[in-house]
Amino acid sequence: MTHVFHRHSRTTPPRAARGEGAYIIDTDGKRYLDGSGGAAVSCLGHSDPEVIAAITEQVSTLAFAHTGFFTTEPAERLADRLIAHAPEGIEKVYFVSGGSEAVETALKMARQYFVETGEVTRTRFIARRQSYHGNTLGALATGGNAWRRAPFAPLMAESFHIAPCYEYRGIESNESLEDYGLRVANELEAELLRLGPETVIGFVAEPVVGATMGAVPAVPGYFKRIREICDRYGILLILDEVMCGMGRTGTLFACEQDGISPDIVTIAKGLGAGYQPIGATLCSGKIHDAFANGSGFFQHGHTYIGHATACAAADVVVSKLTEGGLTARAAEMGDKLDAALRASFGDHPHIGDIRGRGMFRGLEIVADRETKTPFEPERAINKKIKAAAFEAGLICYPMGGTIDGRLGDHVLLAPPFILEDAQIGELVDKLSMAFAQVIG
Ligand code: PMP
Repeated sequence: MTHVFHRHSRTTPPRAARGEGAYIIDTDGKRYLDGSGGAAVSCLGHSDPEVIAAITEQVSTLAFAHTGFFTTEPAERLADRLIAHAPEGIEKVYFVSGGSEAVETALKMARQYFVETGEVTRTRFIARRQSYHGNTLGALATGGNAWRRAPFAPLMAESFHIAPCYEYRGIESNESLEDYGLRVANELEAELLRLGPETVIGFVAEPVVGATMGAVPAVPGYFKRIREICDRYGILLILDEVMCGMGRTGTLFACEQDGISPDIVTIAKGLGAGYQPIGATLCSGKIHDAFANGSGFFQHGHTYIGHATACAAADVVVSKLTEGGLTARAAEMGDKLDAALRASFGDHPHIGDIRGRGMFRGLEIVADRETKTPFEPERAINKKIKAAAFEAGLICYPMGGTIDGRLGDHVLLAPPFILEDAQIGELVDKLSMAFAQVIG
């Protein structure tokens, strides 16, 4: 009997005892291949000696100093390193403790920016249907995931949602990728005109949609068009790279592959790589300067901003992702993972789509490949496949995704970038076994 509030299970789950590279070992000695890096977190794997050394050194020198009084060397070093690799125009880093805090900060930063510029009629956000941007109330109110929002409605500030860029289910048979991208991006303009652009703060989106859709990248040209529309109507483009950032898709920031720069970008998960809880909201000079030249204050903050130990750990993580070449490895091994998934599941009667970038891959499960009809949610196929994989010693991303609130339509993989060829084989074999057990 334990007093821990287990969120995912009514019974006590196995006790994780140790981490070793791409594996987690429980107290019974069972080994699990971490095919989802926890939740797209453990990009370096589980026992990285350099991160452990940096944490040990920092915690024994100065674990924490409150930003109300001090800055610290690790926070400055990490911010400089991130900005050196950030999309063009991004100049400042606001540290937080995780993904929801990073998104919450982005939303408040954007809102306060327009208070500073005097455009006080701008009070709402547009995001995409099915999107998830975090569980705090503001982030939840912005996301378009009906299932996540339902138990908490009515939410604080209602946002508006347009269709995601979802080639598999969205493209019409006679349409080119580019035409589809333009058509679906143009929904933003239509929604802005419907709402009145002077009432909108920004558009929030994940460049590659993770938890709710299963590693869905946008088609070429989509985000360029979105950027143009944001600029035309003076709204901010806020990219949520909490899951897809930090090398996960094969570039440090996922949006590099879309050829655009946001006004604000959020990161977390892979930034601390599971060694420390840390996130960050990165913003352009214009957003920072509005505060510096205006009230001089951003009236928002958390106790653990710029936590010295967390920053020291993340600094090693980012240096390994960049100078250390691990992001390039994510691109290379990600291509191998994609090829292995296609070899095993390409002809599977219940796999409708295999997609993703780098070490971020999704399989969409369907009842019928021709019609793309999903399984009935009651069959909980996805949950069963994950349970069978876990039993066989493979961890897949915990959530199943939703189609308008329906569970059970995809498997998301986000393994550590240190994965070896043999472990890609192990991952695909165990996943195939799980599929065979559940749907043949
Ligand atoms: N944004 C995205 C895109 C996410 O995937 C998540 C977490 N799954 C969050 C925000 C929230 O992050 P956290 O769980 O660290 O609060």
